[in-house]
Amino acid sequence: MAKQPMLKFVNVERDMPEKRAADARNKDFHEIYAEFADAKAKEQASRCSQCGVPYCQSHCPLHNNIPDWLRLTAQGRLQEAYDLSQATNTFPEICGRICPQDRLCEGNCVIEQSGHGTVTIGAVEKYITDTAWDKGWVQAIAPKAERVESVGIIGAGPGGLAAADVLRREGVQVTVYDRYDRGGGLMTYGIPGFKLEKDVVMRRMEQLEKGGVEFVMNCNVGEDITFEDIRNKHNAVLIATGVYKSRDLQGPGSGAQGIVRALDYLTASNRLSFGDVVPEYDSGELNAEGKNVVVVGGGDTAMDCVRTAIRQGAKSVKCLYRRDRDNMPGSQREVQNAEEEGVIFEWLSAPKGFVGDPVSAVKVQQMRLGQPDATGRQSPEPIEGAEHDEPADLVIKALGFEPEDLPTLWNQKELEVTRWGTVKADFGTGKTAMEGVYAVGDIVRGASLVVWAIRDGRDSAAAILDHLNAAQTVAAE
Ligand code: FAD
Ligand code: SF4
Ligand code: SF4
Repeated sequence: MAKQPMLKFVNVERDMPEKRAADARNKDFHEIYAEFADAKAKEQASRCSQCGVPYCQSHCPLHNNIPDWLRLTAQGRLQEAYDLSQATNTFPEICGRICPQDRLCEGNCVIEQSGHGTVTIGAVEKYITDTAWDKGWVQAIAPKAERVESVGIIGAGPGGLAAADVLRREGVQVTVYDRYDRGGGLMTYGIPGFKLEKDVVMRRMEQLEKGGVEFVMNCNVGEDITFEDIRNKHNAVLIATGVYKSRDLQGPGSGAQGIVRALDYLTASNRLSFGDVVPEYDSGELNAEGKNVVVVGGGDTAMDCVRTAIRQGAKSVKCLYRRDRDNMPGSQREVQNAEEEGVIFEWLSAPKGFVGDPVSAVKVQQMRLGQPDATGRQSPEPIEGAEHDEPADLVIKALGFEPEDLPTLWNQKELEVTRWGTVKADFGTGKTAMEGVYAVGDIVRGASLVVWAIRDGRDSAAAILDHLNAAQTVAAE
């Protein structure tokens, strides 16, 4: 009988790929985790207990066939593991790097629940596809036959790109329009290199281009081309524009020089990684070097800002969040990484106002957690008289994002939106109320995750194919 390669969790401990020491990683923008060595990946994959009902899989938004690709990895059948992994995920190596696994697949692994430490699913997923790239198994898309129909996709983020991939594989003519100069959306200009290096995203862009996806870059729909023009050019249109309107800070002095938006700050830093000239960085406006930096917010964007500021050589970096550590929306793993790198968190602290123009300090109000609100979450409330001034010459606002007003910007009153301004679309198909118009990703869900945008893009592409096939059948009758 063949030797049982799995269920090793009883005597093999959980082990993540090596993390670079804080004082080595806090000066550059390279990823902080190394790749698994082959033997380590096999060993860690072999810890899986091959559950009959795998909760890891049901809590992965893509329902990845995790137990099977773990078993194939443990058996050294890596190419088969890759084939299986990429069958359900357009960008497995990206999800392996940046999914909040502790809330999704790994957080629901039965081994974790039984106290043995979760199988390191994300790290193995990354290892499988990085190996596939190294070995040349990742090929350009080559459709069996070309179709005449075309689809216009607005937005080259993960939602738009996942849909482009599925449609192009079926031979559909795909054109992606984006207002940036590079594709990838927030994977390129939002998420910093220490979580996701830029060449990992760019090689996916090249793969899609080589496979025949046409990209029209520097094209702001609503300004450089109308939505109506795109609709007239294509048999179907997919809106995948994300959410970009920053929530603002209130309070006296909030308009002072030196108070900047998180995405402007992160985009400037990411552009530098590409070697671009960034005047706002050179002028000091979006550069933390030598400054006392205060970041306001407790989500993943705030974590990315504080860690970027450390790497730019800030004098001090503090993060203000109005609730406590247990109630913050950002990942605990990222808070720990930030603390190791020298960031100081001021929990239960909210900005009340700002001193000076240019800004020289933040007026900080101490908070406490009060009664739970309708959702059961405790609301922060100010502690009277508990205030102090926190010196700051760069304040970064990381309070979240809202959708732009697409019906007005694009002059499309029939494009229905929710009361939050997100596009109304059917979850599962992305169908909007407009014939042949679909929408996916953050513009439908509100600020969410890369893995959900991929899921939406893939689902919507399947629905668009049904729509094209139905139209073809009608034309043939
Ligand atoms: P986007 O990625 O936002 O892409 C939308 C694209 O549409 C952009 O390229 C934009 O230029 C283009 N566009 C917009 N309007 C127009 C127009 N009018 N004309 C032409 N083009 C247009 N998620 C994770 O899973 N893990 C993380 O670690 C993580 N970290 C994050 C860190 C930051 C700083 C931010 C801001 C987000 C992070 N996210 C993370 C969230 C994740 O990036 C998004 O949920 C995801 O990128 C949404 O994908 P999308 O395709 O809907 O939109
Ligand atoms: Fe886990 Fe994300 Fe990979 Fe799914 S896509 S298995 S949630 S890391
Ligand atoms: Fe393996 Fe954990 Fe998934 Fe079970 S839940 S199949 S042990 S990874």
